[in-house]
Amino acid sequence: MFDLKNIVRPNIWNLKPYSCARDEFQGEASVYLDANESPYNAPYNRYPDPLQWDLKKEIEKIKKVDAKQIFLGNGSDEAIDLVYRAFCEPGRDNVVAIEPTYGMYGVCADINNVTYKNVKLNDDFSLNAENLLDAVDDNTKVIWLCSPNNPTGNLLATCEIEKILNSFHGIVVVDEAYIDFSSTESWALQLNKYPNLIVLQTFSKAWASAGIRLGLAFASTDIIAIFNKIKYPYNINILTQKLALETIGKKDLISSWKETTIIERDRMIKELSQLPVTTFIHPSDANFLLVKVNDANKIYQELVKKGIIVRNRNSVTLCQGGLRITIGTPEENDILLTELKKL
Ligand SMILES: *Cc1c(COP(=O)(O)O)cnc(C)c1O
Repeated sequence: MFDLKNIVRPNIWNLKPYSCARDEFQGEASVYLDANESPYNAPYNRYPDPLQWDLKKEIEKIKKVDAKQIFLGNGSDEAIDLVYRAFCEPGRDNVVAIEPTYGMYGVCADINNVTYKNVKLNDDFSLNAENLLDAVDDNTKVIWLCSPNNPTGNLLATCEIEKILNSFHGIVVVDEAYIDFSSTESWALQLNKYPNLIVLQTFSKAWASAGIRLGLAFASTDIIAIFNKIKYPYNINILTQKLALETIGKKDLISSWKETTIIERDRMIKELSQLPVTTFIHPSDANFLLVKVNDANKIYQELVKKGIIVRNRNSVTLCQGGLRITIGTPEENDILLTELKKL
């Protein structure tokens, strides 16, 4: 059975969080003399809402997740770090992750002095739940999954993720940074079934707002309460909250960009597969393609010379010969194709 109290570090469970002025008084008043702010330069003189309720209410509508089950962070990176700080005792605990995957899970494990255990995906990048569960021991607190996965682009099978959620009594994180480019439903809609599930999403990809740094974590209200307890009190600044609300207001435009990206992804698969340098294109549910080419290091360098930067994944486990190519605008994609045709 999953019992949150057994998974959270005791110091965090017992932590009495910092109480800021805006936690103690909530509501509308006309004279604010409680937080030692400057009375000048409105609205930037005021501290932001520490729990970002206005923004969470809008996200609730779009994502169909209760505002109380949402944590907002300074990028997904903040949520990734908080998972370690909440659940993993440095020098003792470990986490299990798929390989290859997003690099930050491993870097944050190192920062927090937590052992990071890699379990290779199958050769076609599909997930075998048994392999991951075999790596679990008594000190395993978290399993990291990423779907669609980075840098491979594929979704992980629902039934394999279900096996892990049902058999593992620690935290299971499903990072859905690219979910908006896929036609599958988010795991966030299953939160009430799985008390050990944390789903990550971000404004950095389909929402076209990497610069404002806004990451989302969806989980049980108990897990969200733990995150709220340990985060910096004002982790999301006023400008980010305001710009995120404006971006949500432009839903239709964002959605049209996403549609264009998906159309371009299909076109790029067709065009790239015609090129002599291409040996294989992995199927993708994301806004990038992992393309195997005959000489990844050479082609990467040739593209750099032309001012075109892709991600060389040649030295990543199971990705030999792979370049990870983000889907750009139709014009940018044409420039890439023109250069690749010359090689
Ligand atoms: C890009 C990406 C993120 C986004 O991180 P932010 O800190 O929100 O910008 C998260 N997870 C994965 C797998 C990614 O590829």
